[in-house]
Amino acid sequence: MTMLQFNEVHTYYGPIHVLKGVNYRVEEGEIVCLLGANGAGKTTTMKTILGLVRPTEGTVVFKGQEIGKMTPSQVVKAGIAPVPEGRRVFSRMSVSENLELGAYVRSDHKAIADDMSRVFDLFPRLKERRKQLAGLMSGGEQQMLAIGRAMMARPTLLIMDEPSMGLSPIFVERVFDTVQSINKQGVTIFMVEQNANMALTIANRGYVLQNGEVVLENDAASLLQSELVRKTYLGEAIEVS
Ligand code: ATP
Repeated sequence: MTMLQFNEVHTYYGPIHVLKGVNYRVEEGEIVCLLGANGAGKTTTMKTILGLVRPTEGTVVFKGQEIGKMTPSQVVKAGIAPVPEGRRVFSRMSVSENLELGAYVRSDHKAIADDMSRVFDLFPRLKERRKQLAGLMSGGEQQMLAIGRAMMARPTLLIMDEPSMGLSPIFVERVFDTVQSINKQGVTIFMVEQNANMALTIANRGYVLQNGEVVLENDAASLLQSELVRKTYLGEAIEVS
């Protein structure tokens, strides 16, 4: 089943044309990765899914339902949870309170408690630190918390905006391992990443966005081999002939 589809989506910030007729497709159970340089429109893609930016043309369809005109909380209720760029945990709240907030669209208290223990199984460090203020934790731990908070909404689709940004190599690896285990639990993942090597290692497929247009799409293994990705995102030297 197709989980998420962008059909010829255009978005603007005032006069600035950002997404210029993009098409993406994410199938149920996949990890799909969106690569692109700064300013390409990756965060705008995420905001468009969440209802924070409205398409002026085109449709955004989630499990057969058009979501392009929904409010962010309707989108979350429909089953999409974001892990935003820069983590954005509530720094003056405890770890447990942050996780509880992730379940704000739900009222099934027993299941919420079960989900919190599942998040603690995934991240034992969060359990140890559940009473600590989120702002006092390291960047890597805050990223774990942001992922845990998103999981508290019981999403079927997790959208992640640069989950490895600013993290030490050990946490980068841990984040990608976590993304894989969440995916194995049945959650579909659409992820923006600058760390193309790691992202394409765990992804099924990917898209490359340049100036608001998809210039390349393929399975992850082929993208890793492609000249454009190798030169632009994996830092390979450009041959001068
Ligand atoms: P980055 O990796 O730098 O976050 P990105 O691919 O996520 O890049 P976007 O944040 O989607 O890029 O931005 C796409 C374009 O839209 C950029 O040119 C940016 O300057 C512009 N832009 C983003 N947000 C706004 C805004 N609120 N108002 C006006 N222009 C914006």
